[in-house]
Amino acid sequence: MPTSFAKAESLGADLARAPRGLIIGGKSVQAVSGKTFATVNPATGKEICQVAEGGAEDVDLAVKAARQALVDPAWANMSAVDRSLLLNRLADLIERDAAELAVLECIDNGKPATLTQAVEIEGSIKTFRYFAGWPTKFGGETLPVSPRSGAKILNYTVREPVGVCGLIVPWNYPMSMAAWKVAPALAAGCTVILKPAEQTPLTALRLAELALEAGVPEGVFNVITGFGEAGAALVDHPGVDKVAFTGSTAVGKAIVRGSTVNLKKVSLELGGKSPQIVLPDADLDAAAASIAAGIFFNQGQTCTAGSRLYAHSSIHDDLLARIADQAAQLTIGNGLDPSVNFGPLVSQEQWDQVSSYVEIGKNEGADIMIGGGRPADLSEGYFFQPTIMTNAGCDMRIVREEIFGPVLSALSWDDADDLVAQANDSDFGLSAGIWTNDIKQGHRLASQVKAGTVWVNCFNLVDNATPFGGFKQSGWGREHGRQAMELYSEIKSVWVNLS
Ligand code: NDP
Repeated sequence: MPTSFAKAESLGADLARAPRGLIIGGKSVQAVSGKTFATVNPATGKEICQVAEGGAEDVDLAVKAARQALVDPAWANMSAVDRSLLLNRLADLIERDAAELAVLECIDNGKPATLTQAVEIEGSIKTFRYFAGWPTKFGGETLPVSPRSGAKILNYTVREPVGVCGLIVPWNYPMSMAAWKVAPALAAGCTVILKPAEQTPLTALRLAELALEAGVPEGVFNVITGFGEAGAALVDHPGVDKVAFTGSTAVGKAIVRGSTVNLKKVSLELGGKSPQIVLPDADLDAAAASIAAGIFFNQGQTCTAGSRLYAHSSIHDDLLARIADQAAQLTIGNGLDPSVNFGPLVSQEQWDQVSSYVEIGKNEGADIMIGGGRPADLSEGYFFQPTIMTNAGCDMRIVREEIFGPVLSALSWDDADDLVAQANDSDFGLSAGIWTNDIKQGHRLASQVKAGTVWVNCFNLVDNATPFGGFKQSGWGREHGRQAMELYSEIKSVWVNLS
């Protein structure tokens, strides 16, 4: 184990000394109710520590703190350059504590620490640095509306922060999902209340502490840990101007309904059931490696997981054998071991869900090619084997619903005319992968697939510079890039009569 991870192992014991508080107005405070809940290590099923269980009263206090901070000159009058410097300082602190954050995420979520540090923590540093570049570049424009009725008119637009933002994030990439929302919100001058998932509260709390250390004024970045009720209280609160949510489509719909209280702005990054389309001329080794990573990375708990495979019948068996070979090379175990690259699922509830889908698939007539349950040598924790189900049909639930685990549902196709219709036959439209050496086919399919992101001969590449989000029931709005800055700002048009 790298020394850095070994040192951080004592973290669990340190955390267990006292319940972790909410962060409201720059202070760590217990919930008004005094209630706490346990956060659990998925590799062992054992409690790590107690965490404050925030409720509606705590949300109210956090909203008051965030509203106050929004107009406090320390934040409202901070120059764009200083906001940039602040976000870069926060990135520096995440970099300083990268190993500790990776271990925190590993023990709280189960994901392997080495991969977490390389992908999620490094990704979060990049996210803060990317959005640190925006405050000095995100402005309005002057528009050619003059003259009007003989009068000389100056018209210009300005960008203003949308206000207090409720940021509700899931457990699958806790640190990245927080960074994707906190960074553009602060870059745009908003104040935030972050609600992490009940399974993974620890890195969100640490991120807010680092923000305070970086110099983010008190009340600008608040954290409410707790259950879905705390998230719902944020959505219901008339003092919240915008909600940004990543999570299940069912909760996304509840958020839309709840947001009508004050017609708060809503952006949603929801579920997916992404197709991997493989043409007969594809490079099968490259496709197999990427398709395996696309479904087994993070134990399949990824919104863009390529969970529906459409392989041409001529290469179907060969491709699946190669994907199975890739799965066999994964090292499954406790993510604190640096050689592990496949950890447990996040919770018993998630294990039960994945397991039940495998049963559903079997009952629907699909076959288990590999996996399908708990690895024989791991008796504790929420481990689930990388699984491939073959002979899947387009009407099966394992092809239509988000399993959110390491389960690939494989279909075979012959009729190219029907392929796009099959790939698009889904309530979701988050992403898609296309594998072919024919560049024209690649572009043609990319234009026909209904998805927010299409990868051709690659998969799961994400960058802060390019928009990320979904068509259909995969969401509203786009994270990253200029689009993210637009989500967290209002545009104002100003008319000045110069005559
Ligand atoms: P949820 O969508 O329930 O949770 C996401 C976040 O929303 C959490 O912070 C959660 O809090 C909060 N929340 C829950 N209910 C409400 C509500 N009524 N109003 C506002 N916020 C709320 O996902 P789950 O964690 O329950 O996972 C369920 C399933 O959703 C998974 O099995 C998976 O299929 C899918 N999922 C999809 C994700 C994606 O990125 N596409 C991400 C996560 C899950 P709390 O954790 O306290 O309930």
